[in-house]
Amino acid sequence: MSGIRPTGFLHLGNYFGALRNYVRMQDAYTCYFMVADLHALTTLNETKGLKQHVRRVLAENIASGLDPDKVALYCQSHVPETSELYLFLNMLAYKGELEKTPTFKDKVRLQPNNVNAGLLTYPVLMAADILLHRATLVPVGKDQEQHLEIARDFAGRFNKRYEREVFPEPFAFNFGEELVKVPSLDGAGKMSKSENQMATIYLADDDDTIRKKIKKAKTESVADPAAPMPASIENLFQLLKLVCTPDVVSKFHADYQAGTVRYGDMKSELAEGMVSFIAPIREKAEQIQNDDSYLKKVMEQGAAKARASAAVTVELAKEAIGLIYY
Ligand code: AMP
Repeated sequence: MSGIRPTGFLHLGNYFGALRNYVRMQDAYTCYFMVADLHALTTLNETKGLKQHVRRVLAENIASGLDPDKVALYCQSHVPETSELYLFLNMLAYKGELEKTPTFKDKVRLQPNNVNAGLLTYPVLMAADILLHRATLVPVGKDQEQHLEIARDFAGRFNKRYEREVFPEPFAFNFGEELVKVPSLDGAGKMSKSENQMATIYLADDDDTIRKKIKKAKTESVADPAAPMPASIENLFQLLKLVCTPDVVSKFHADYQAGTVRYGDMKSELAEGMVSFIAPIREKAEQIQNDDSYLKKVMEQGAAKARASAAVTVELAKEAIGLIYY
């Protein structure tokens, strides 16, 4: 189980941190993937663009290789059981612990005039999303590690409080490897939907925009190749590994170590790798996004699958709590 917020265009971080693993999981597991539109309400000041963003995120999921016939691909708000479980879990969540969550502190800094209760209880809603399907594997990027820890806590707390093993423990999942963090092109932080758009490559970027952004990516001259690699250069290598062949990566590594690396050449290779990788996804997503009847079918079919699984869980939760009276 996993989800992506429809708060803007998806980028390479969303792809390599999340989407790629959704696609890799779909043949071997029972999967639930959703567009987290309720989560988006915690930060959106206005919802005019929401419809387009939800449709775009669905289209980009499918264009990246997700098959809506194999998985449940749905919108969070189409599964009202999510909100029911969220309410039950809120009774087990404490103000103090939620205030300490680093992502909450970050968001308070970003939107000091809109510190709403939804923002505070964001990790509770995320736990509800996951526990709703009693999911154990959650394909997410590295930035979500702490939220998964909180979801595990809530699962354990619920089971203990109501003395029934309703929820298994969920874990962040990347096929046994380290969770991914795709760095931003300005050498600082990670790619993200809203911060510094020139330092983030979006799946919707056209070829020339991709080339322009990569050209502007931060680099710095290195006097001693044996010293630790500066973060900006390490980031470029990390991006190169994502979209270019191992041969190309090894060649630039060898050049770097010999002190002869030409960053202009390296960026050109990286840009062309990105263009060939993104163009087919962008073109397919554009087509899907404009296909009203297909998207409606995907959403309806996804919601039906998700609600079937959610109804069973909510019933188990109610029984455990003692909310069944006849
Ligand atoms: P969000 O865009 O915050 O809704 O995140 C959707 C998914 O993309 C989550 O699984 C995140 O962990 C993942 N993600 C977002 N940004 C990055 C990034 N820069 N690197 C790796 N994964 C990311």
